[in-house]
Amino acid sequence: MGESTATAPLDAASASALRDRWNSVRDRVSAAAGRSGRKASDVMLVVVTKSGSIDQIRELVNMGQVDLAENRVQQLTQRAATIGEWLSRRSEMDPKATVPQVRWHMIGSLQRNKVRKAMDVSRLVHSMDSLRLAEEMQAAASRRPTPMEVLVEVNVSGEASKSGIAPPAVRHMLDQMDTMVNLKVRGLMCMAPLSGGQDEARRTFERCKELFDDCRRSGSGGDRFDILSMGMSGDFEVAIECGANLVRVGGAVIGPPQVEEAADEA
Ligand SMILES: *Cc1c(COP(=O)(O)O)cnc(C)c1O
Repeated sequence: MGESTATAPLDAASASALRDRWNSVRDRVSAAAGRSGRKASDVMLVVVTKSGSIDQIRELVNMGQVDLAENRVQQLTQRAATIGEWLSRRSEMDPKATVPQVRWHMIGSLQRNKVRKAMDVSRLVHSMDSLRLAEEMQAAASRRPTPMEVLVEVNVSGEASKSGIAPPAVRHMLDQMDTMVNLKVRGLMCMAPLSGGQDEARRTFERCKELFDDCRRSGSGGDRFDILSMGMSGDFEVAIECGANLVRVGGAVIGPPQVEEAADEA
């Protein structure tokens, strides 16, 4: 579907603007980690590439950005394939060179008929938002060599427009997922309300952190329940101050949208 697989580097000005934005976000992540008594390396920066071009993604990978995210299955699988081919051509051409590593994250809501495709390329699925989806993924993951790692998406603010599990139901969801041996729950994911600004974002993130800590204390999430994914371009510093150890940042790195946001066909 049309995206060039040729190695067409960004022009120098665009590449340098991209690098500046990426470095600035990394500095801000590091400062916010410091304010919460942690190191920059304690917070994983996942760059959301949904509005970026494939050339920007290549440039980010060359700069050393490892973790990339998409919110639509079709764009995720196309881009994972394109970048994968590009990297394997590079290692064929120069077997001694260290080829960068890339890990794809699925952060958007998952239709059940696309579960398998999304799982094939994802390192971590952030958007496990119903028991039905968990059951579907458990079944589809039976042939995987290792369990699929997932985060439970929590609708902390209770907005009807948001997907996610209601906070009081999260522990029960985790208990039920305990028997799903092909899935490994690594933690929680949430989003701040669209309106309400930084104060509302902070309240949301604080509540999600409390829930995360409760789950850890009670052991419901199992032994590797250790990822708290919250914070986007407008609120990632607040999220880190509230305890996020993974932030999903798109626009602040990508800049003005380069592609129209993809829509998945059903
Ligand atoms: C798009 C998106 C992001 C990144 O949003 P920005 O505001 O561009 O940083 C993070 N999380 C999810 C689930 C998204 O869909």
